Amino acid sequence: MTRLIFLGPPGAGKGTQAKALAEHLNIPHISTGEILRQALQDQTPLGIKAQSYMDRGELVPDILVQEMVQERLNQPDAQHGWILDGFPRTVNQAVFLEKLLVKLDQSGEMVVSLEVPDDVVVARLLARGRKDDSEDVIRRRLEVYRFETAPLINHYHEQQKLLKVNGNQSLEEVTTELELAIAS
Ligand code: AMP
Repeated sequence: MTRLIFLGPPGAGKGTQAKALAEHLNIPHISTGEILRQALQDQTPLGIKAQSYMDRGELVPDILVQEMVQERLNQPDAQHGWILDGFPRTVNQAVFLEKLLVKLDQSGEMVVSLEVPDDVVVARLLARGRKDDSEDVIRRRLEVYRFETAPLINHYHEQQKLLKVNGNQSLEEVTTELELAIAS
């Protein structure tokens, strides 16, 4: 049973790798960013509440994302494993997730940290040019990552759940290293 959490700065290639691996393992790729963007596009109550935060590169309030993840992990296709991409983003969310997984009898998760130097991340983000990728917003998202999300690396390291993967290599090389890391 594969249950993986993907951690890494925006622009680390996290989404691409998580998606490919999930497809390969035939388990759902659960991206909170994707779910939120879809909700925004559909103008659901969740999307409307999340919009202003996303537009500014800020985190959507924990309570909203937590509810979303809880609902998603309760779906039938999530009972045979999953890859979480973009959640948790704060220590508070990580504590919530740990309790949720115990409650759902889905513990035993491992965490992949995609490591990429700051300057590489900035260059990649500027080249990517998504709608929310203006320079100010990029800078803010990196700051939020550094202060809110990066502490999770240590959090999971202390729990001996952390697998580090060098994200600063070609897409194929990252995939290979990733597959080796989760197989060991
Ligand atoms: P992402 O595609 O993962 O970069 O997420 C895009 C945006 O969605 C982020 O900049 C946040 O505004 C929001 N978001 C995604 N996941 C979370 C989360 N776990 N907690 C709070 N906000 C989130």
